[in-house]
Amino acid sequence: MADGIDMQSSMPRDGGCQCGRVRYTAAIAVPDAYLCHCTMCRRATGGAFAAFVNVPLSALTWHAEPDWYRSSPIARRPFCAACGTPLGFAFLENATAIDLTLGSFDDPSGFVPVRNYASESVLPAWQDSSHLPTMRSDENSNVVQRWMDKVGKLPD
Ligand SMILES: [Zn+2]
Ligand SMILES: [Zn+2]
Repeated sequence: MADGIDMQSSMPRDGGCQCGRVRYTAAIAVPDAYLCHCTMCRRATGGAFAAFVNVPLSALTWHAEPDWYRSSPIARRPFCAACGTPLGFAFLENATAIDLTLGSFDDPSGFVPVRNYASESVLPAWQDSSHLPTMRSDENSNVVQRWMDKVGKLPD
């Protein structure tokens, strides 16, 4: 634990998988998150990098146990076998903390990335997308029409 962190001020944050089978609550003391650029995390999450929040095991409650797979000789990763959502990363031995995928939190907006890990594997073209043209999803009439025809409203 870093100096100056007041555990009394930790906030419960909920998260889970896409289908809702796996749910968790994590007591978050600091809003720090990080990016892992390693090739294993890239493949495990299917993204250009993985975004994680490191949480002490004592601060995490699984409301429904996730599925786990052995992702390397030293680690295992929780996921939902029903929908495939990658939920995190944990060392096999002597684990005192777990990484939860940022995107599995119901509201990831309060977290802030504070470092790049596995920087030797960074894909430079994906580090900053802020200069790219943008489009809102509700401006995509093809997708909007599919949602309206099937559900009558856009997803939350
Ligand atoms: Zn699921
Ligand atoms: Zn990694």
